[in-house]
Amino acid sequence: MSRGRLVVISAPSGAGKTTICRRLERDHPEWRFSVSGTTRPQRDHETNGKDYYFLTDDQFDEKVSKGEFLEWEWVHGYRYGTLHQALEEALANGETLLLDVDVKGGVNIKQQFSGDTIAIFIDPPDMETLAARLKRRGTEDPAIIKQRLARLPQELAYKQDYDHVVVNDNLETAINEVEAILKEVE
Ligand code: ADP
Ligand code: 5GP
Repeated sequence: MSRGRLVVISAPSGAGKTTICRRLERDHPEWRFSVSGTTRPQRDHETNGKDYYFLTDDQFDEKVSKGEFLEWEWVHGYRYGTLHQALEEALANGETLLLDVDVKGGVNIKQQFSGDTIAIFIDPPDMETLAARLKRRGTEDPAIIKQRLARLPQELAYKQDYDHVVVNDNLETAINEVEAILKEVE
């Protein structure tokens, strides 16, 4: 059996990464999605164990001390980490595992698994569109949205470390582009 591959997908907050990943998940049951651990509070539509493992600070600390995370980062005031287990299983079973992680986590995974990783950066069309999407999503209050937008220049600086950049202007076009990248390397 051939070794699996890791597909890292990163983007500035609001660029559409979750929307794209959910569609890929729906249309490609043959691909697996890594479920991260986080200390962020659960949103209404989210399911524990599917969207994330929602952890208390103490639970997160315990996993850190047991070495269960391959990488973890502070993002927007909360901790998020990729768990070793699913990743090792996917590689050993020849599966494709998609990982929705922030830019630092993405670069970290790429360094640790360079031969196994394809890294895709989802780029927002422009700052105004990004701000409008975050506002429309309505999951954060204006102060948090401002904080997320302030991180944009730092996040864009990592774009050059990614193998592919997909601009999410039209959603269908962006999804098709991501699918084409994955099929090309299958
Ligand atoms: P992220 O996970 O990158 O923070 P989301 O996937 O939650 O971003 O997208 C942010 C908001 O923008 C959501 O309300 C989503 O429905 C919307 N959105 C995503 N992609 C597009 C697109 N191509 N055109 C218009 N709205 C979009
Ligand atoms: P959200 O709170 O909107 O779901 O995610 C916030 C950010 O955390 C996103 O950029 C997402 O990609 C990132 N993220 C989610 N899981 C992980 C992870 O396991 N590791 C890292 N480094 N970032 C993550």
